[in-house]
Amino acid sequence: MLDNYNFTAAERFLRYVQIDTQSDPLATTFPSTDKQKDLGNILAEELLQIGLQDAHMDEWGYVYATIPSNTDKKVPVICFCAHMDTAPDCSGTNVKPIVHKNYSGADIILPDDKSQVLRLSEYPYLQSQIGNDIITASGLTLLGADDKAGVAEIMDLANFLMTHKDVKHGEIKILFTPDEEVGNGTGKLDLQKLGADYGYTLDGGDAGSLEDETFSADGVRLTIHGVIAHPGYAKNKMINAMKLAGLILDALPKDRLSPESTEGKRGFIHPVRVEGIAEKCTIDFIIRDFETPGLKKKEDFLRTLVEETLRAYPKASFEFAVSEQYRNMKDVLVLHPQVTDHAKTAITKAGLDVKMESIRGGTDGSRLSFMGLPCPNLFAGEQAIHSKLEFVSVQDMNKAVETLVYLVGEWENAS
Ligand SMILES: [Zn+2]
Repeated sequence: MLDNYNFTAAERFLRYVQIDTQSDPLATTFPSTDKQKDLGNILAEELLQIGLQDAHMDEWGYVYATIPSNTDKKVPVICFCAHMDTAPDCSGTNVKPIVHKNYSGADIILPDDKSQVLRLSEYPYLQSQIGNDIITASGLTLLGADDKAGVAEIMDLANFLMTHKDVKHGEIKILFTPDEEVGNGTGKLDLQKLGADYGYTLDGGDAGSLEDETFSADGVRLTIHGVIAHPGYAKNKMINAMKLAGLILDALPKDRLSPESTEGKRGFIHPVRVEGIAEKCTIDFIIRDFETPGLKKKEDFLRTLVEETLRAYPKASFEFAVSEQYRNMKDVLVLHPQVTDHAKTAITKAGLDVKMESIRGGTDGSRLSFMGLPCPNLFAGEQAIHSKLEFVSVQDMNKAVETLVYLVGEWENAS
């Protein structure tokens, strides 16, 4: 269907990555950095040029736009979403993108820091990219394919649909968000105003990959109360809460249930912070499991471990407070199987193998799903994200656009 189409994703991408949009986890403003709006303004302007008449950026830096329906059928409203910010882990200032045409499989040495070398042996995905055009940064910064690849692909989808009216589709909403990388991409989002029934984030890696599953996540704050006494006269009286905390940490399993001992579908209990004095000590844990009821099991396990550890110290006491963080998007997506099914069909029609993946973390999509917008994550082509070796191929970006074109067609067909 797109054989004669002049894709614009790569051209757009090369411009967008040169705009610094790094977010800041320590900021108290929204968006966390004002410079993210520099890109938001450009995207809103370009969407207007493409012909999306309601395109605009709001006061919080969100870009909203609508591609009007061109079918008589009643089709659910689909939203495509990508984030504009780049990760705080690595500089995003003065990004100099480089296109390496017709990749041969040889090492790619980044010119501004020759110690930065992209090697096939370290990034096996490159095997699938031989003959493709690979875009990298120059060695001093990240590239920003996470998630400007997704942004550029959605922009190109808009361009394609507005210039190919023969492709029938329902109403489509475009959403570009700030502050995803600092965990707050949905912070000021107006879902009512967006008015979509289902969504897809474009923020995944390998061509053909589709992520419909994330961790479910809780936090536990354990507060341990010891018994305080003057240290000169503390014999048989003092119980040091910090030492109890040490016993508890030491009692955690060493070969399982931890991030450093698990992968795949296994969850964990992970202490992330200890703070205290002899009298009182708190340990913050994060609890992760793909099965939401599995969180409760892990929390019970942890509580029992604490009780058993403290049994020898009857004068010490503890509080155990559980707080919900986020939930596996699959809990929502199983209720709307067509969202994932249409994506699988579209990926296949684009000539790719579907790779179902689970995210050992959370995404804006998990939050959106529980806010009422079921929202799996589609591939955008981004690789080696949050690093100076980040890359994406022109061909993977174009495949993502093609997938989106088939995807809007699937929703129209099925209606
Ligand atoms: Zn991302």
